[in-house]
Amino acid sequence: MDKQTSDFYFYAAGYFLLVCAVFVLSTTNPVERKIQDVPKVVQPLLCFNIESSELRTSDTESGCLAPEEPLGTAPIIHSEIRPTQLDRTLEVRFLAARAAANLAGFDIRITSGFRSQQLQERLFNDAVKKYGSESEASKWVLPKDISHHPWGIAIDVNYPGDKVATKWLEDNGSQFGLCRVYENEWWHFEPVIAPGQPCPPMMANALESLPTLDMADIK
Ligand SMILES: [Zn+2]
Repeated sequence: MDKQTSDFYFYAAGYFLLVCAVFVLSTTNPVERKIQDVPKVVQPLLCFNIESSELRTSDTESGCLAPEEPLGTAPIIHSEIRPTQLDRTLEVRFLAARAAANLAGFDIRITSGFRSQQLQERLFNDAVKKYGSESEASKWVLPKDISHHPWGIAIDVNYPGDKVATKWLEDNGSQFGLCRVYENEWWHFEPVIAPGQPCPPMMANALESLPTLDMADIK
């Protein structure tokens, strides 16, 4: 075979392979294939029976059956619209945790949950007087626009009372999606995780949750 003929066969074979590759790729839709390959994930969902205080694991498809209420499968974030009461899923998480705490011999109560913006403003202004500056005050009480209490997604537990019972919640709250978030506030809990997930490391104080905020903006 002379050089010209062998070159012809070489390029012809290459062209044939290229045509085959284009054909194979065009007949398999990668998006479609991906959807078929992914197995359907059925999330576990905790359901708390408000009447019997029993906690049951369901799945998000079957859901909870009244009078059960769901603990949710994600962190609870604040709504777009200002609420007028504590987030109901947070309340259900707390009720489920309280039932478990009772069985373990501990009594936990919400001593401050939802706060109106007016109340939060008053608490913040009082704290500014007490601590001498807005940034020092914000280590303990956040301004009304930022604090999660007026958003209905924060609770103070047993403050200023039974710290030992609240420690039970700190140790066991993650099962119910409740975490202590600040090192300087043993009483303050937020629903920052899905039930059963580990709590994130605590922040030193509330001021640390606003690292980029200019204190002049949060009057
Ligand atoms: Zn609080």
